[in-house]
Amino acid sequence: MNLHEYQAKDLLRAAGLPMQPGEVARSADEAEAIAQRAGGPVVVKAQVHAGGRGKAGGVKLAATPADARVAAATILGMVIKGLTVDRVLVADATEIAEEAYVGIIMDRAAKSAVVMVSAAGGMDIETVAATTPERVRRLAVDPRYGLLPYEAADLAWFLYPDAPRARAATTILRRLYDAFVACDASLVELNPLVTRPDRSLVAVDAKMVIDENALERHPEIAALRDERAEDPSETAARRANLTFVKLDGTVGCVVNGAGLAMATMDLVKFYGGEPANFLDIGGSSNPEKVVQALRIITSDPRVRVILFNIFGGITRTDDVATGIVQALRAHPLTVPLVIRLTGTNDVAAVAILAAHGLSAMTEMDAAVRQAVALAAAPVVA
Ligand code: GDP
Ligand code: MN
Repeated sequence: MNLHEYQAKDLLRAAGLPMQPGEVARSADEAEAIAQRAGGPVVVKAQVHAGGRGKAGGVKLAATPADARVAAATILGMVIKGLTVDRVLVADATEIAEEAYVGIIMDRAAKSAVVMVSAAGGMDIETVAATTPERVRRLAVDPRYGLLPYEAADLAWFLYPDAPRARAATTILRRLYDAFVACDASLVELNPLVTRPDRSLVAVDAKMVIDENALERHPEIAALRDERAEDPSETAARRANLTFVKLDGTVGCVVNGAGLAMATMDLVKFYGGEPANFLDIGGSSNPEKVVQALRIITSDPRVRVILFNIFGGITRTDDVATGIVQALRAHPLTVPLVIRLTGTNDVAAVAILAAHGLSAMTEMDAAVRQAVALAAAPVVA
């Protein structure tokens, strides 16, 4: 789950990191009042789940409260990378002498958290890494020990040649790693970590992504979710307790089990189709879940066919069949349906489907081929 900059800054400030002070506003009036309280120049920043806001015109310096009002009025309602801005952060403007990059990501290849630092901050770190790799240093952290003091110091000295900043950066890195672990983050970035003219350090931007599967143990972080910034189908799926990932193909997939769901998507692609989604309806077979799943998938106008692939182990295929029948009764389908099911209670399942004019296949390969062919077939008006 993505956090907004102001939310990440609040969390990291509470973890003892030096963050630029600021408050969030949802109107130009509020922005002006915050700037008034700040009593000096501010920076007004679009709060959307996207980087590169500066380049998109979503970050504006304002010398007076009146300027802050104008800046907020301009930025609120702006569309940045497809996302409409409905709130801005009004932060105390920072005087910038230098900009550095500090980030921690969960790296699958390294099977651990990796800390990345660069003195070339303020820009996209991927670009820095691609064009001047010698300006980026990476360190994989052994999760048994955490980021050790000497490791943090080593990274800090790579960033800064002087002892006062290297010392301050050592503390920042250790606290950032601790916050990363404590929040179950998969990414945390300070870009830029600014050196002020007086050589003190402060983070002017913060980005955090939290592991969805860990939110259960962080209710205070889960409450920060901004559903407006997410795909509506993913929100609906989460509420229905379905594991769902929206994709942009035409073959809607309803599968039980994550492994079978991935194998189904592989086979769809193998036969030249494109899956519209990943969906695992789970091991337990609750007809209501099938109803929800169909509703979510059919809300995507790109979907040309729906493929059920059910292997009945713990899942009872007759329950899935009942769910399909119920769903169709409530919302008749406008696209063809291909059902493959086999396993527990499949004889009963086939009978339930047959009583409603539906048929099921047993072989996965044949079912996927048929679904791909139907998705490619011209639409009959
Ligand atoms: P991003 O473009 O989405 O990464 O947004 P940032 O918060 O990183 O802002 C982009 C750039 O705007 C920064 O790299 C700074 O150069 C500039 N900027 C942001 N906040 C301030 C500020 O308080 N003072 C000054 N002088 N520049 C700022
Ligand atoms: Mn930034």
